Amino acid sequence: MSVTSKTDYEAVIGIECHVELKTASKMFCGCPNEFGGEPNTKVCPVCLALPGSLPVPNQKAIELMITAGLAFGAEIPLHSKFDRKNYFYPDMPKNYQISQYDMPFTVGGVVHYWLPDGTKKSCRLTRIHLEEDTGKSTHAGSGDGRIAGSTYSLVDFNRAGVPLMECVSEPDIRSADEAVGYLEALKRTFVELGVSDVKMEEGSLRCDANVSIRPRGTTAFGTKTEIKNMNSFRSVHRAIESEIERQIAVLEGGGRIVQETRGWDELAGETHSMRSKEQAHDYRYFPDPDLVPFEIDRALVQRLSAAMPPLPFERFVRYTESYGIGIAQSTQLADNPSLAGYFDRVVAAGSAPQAALNFVLGDLSRLANESGVAVADGKVSAAALAELIALTETKTINSKIAKDVLVRLWEGGGSAKAIVEGEGLAQVSDPGAVATFVDDVLAANAESVASFLAGKENVLKFLVGQVMKASRGKANPQLVEQLLREKLIAP
Ligand SMILES: [Zn+2]
Repeated sequence: MSVTSKTDYEAVIGIECHVELKTASKMFCGCPNEFGGEPNTKVCPVCLALPGSLPVPNQKAIELMITAGLAFGAEIPLHSKFDRKNYFYPDMPKNYQISQYDMPFTVGGVVHYWLPDGTKKSCRLTRIHLEEDTGKSTHAGSGDGRIAGSTYSLVDFNRAGVPLMECVSEPDIRSADEAVGYLEALKRTFVELGVSDVKMEEGSLRCDANVSIRPRGTTAFGTKTEIKNMNSFRSVHRAIESEIERQIAVLEGGGRIVQETRGWDELAGETHSMRSKEQAHDYRYFPDPDLVPFEIDRALVQRLSAAMPPLPFERFVRYTESYGIGIAQSTQLADNPSLAGYFDRVVAAGSAPQAALNFVLGDLSRLANESGVAVADGKVSAAALAELIALTETKTINSKIAKDVLVRLWEGGGSAKAIVEGEGLAQVSDPGAVATFVDDVLAANAESVASFLAGKENVLKFLVGQVMKASRGKANPQLVEQLLREKLIAP
């Protein structure tokens, strides 16, 4: 097969994504699972691996893991175990990491996601397994150390032992755009499930990408490289694009791809060789003798499954396909579980989705932003907003009054109906009553009337405004305009 241009190649990408779980304590000890703090203050004999200390698994972490697996339709095997993955790094006090090898807590599953243009895609999961995070090294000083510019290293074990789940995908991803779409799906799902904070800037979500290329139309995999050190979705995108181009250039130049780990250099905008890739057998996995194998109670799986919240992908499909909401607004809601939940409750209370959307993403979100209180935590209950929308739809109140009532609800809560009735805010649609306001305004604005009759059509807007003002905003604006026209043309 002759390959002559970039478009003749297809990329094959798999992603390994590490996500710190949001538990109160670490994976195998009682130390707090909190980001930051003075170095080496959140440590104990277990996470420092002092001789004689024994790990005790964190039940909550295992439950969060299983929930994550169930969200993607993974199988939860009856039997699981922890293994030791042996390697030496200064930030690994045990010289091994407790991880899972051949019997993880979840197997298989599919991540459904969408691209910015709304195209739906899916990527199979190989597994999600549970392990413990490492500490953190900081290379400092200036001199001739092996790491450029450093003479010594500091190590902080606060992060050592934090529960970490690793989501391993099948090589189903074909472009940098798809890789980012996939990662966004993981992120919004984990936020919805409450399993992680998923803050890339704090390192609670980190990912590596395995990238290879092959001539389009062929099925055999090319040699892959693993890219590390990507610290934002934007750098994931750039790194994958750059690596695909590099591999094409190597093959086009008659070279061959070497299986290796490559680091992403954000400033240079390119990947560079770090080391040859380890194989699984390099780690000498074996079952951790300090931790007995697990039998996962089916009742627990059922309970976690029953407690599953609506998932972002399901929401996106419902919003775009059943409600006819645009892709950008559907994504905005799917990315904000508490706002989406609120919106769903307003619709469940009887509002038309589009009317509910206009209030939720419009005036209500503006009030929330101004006050720093989330919509779902504010005083406007979903029932009160649905009532307000109903009052607008039946033209009991006009949109101007609706905005005022919404502000009143935001400030003091209560019922929209009670506010409207209590203060006589219902729209005045009685032609006789509106005609009185119209006559008064025409009498007081002779100059404007003359301009209108001389052909200045936009004066009408001013006169409508004057009538609305005279009626304290309650007149039906369509009726006002209609009566004004009638009276101006045939006074
Ligand atoms: Zn500890």
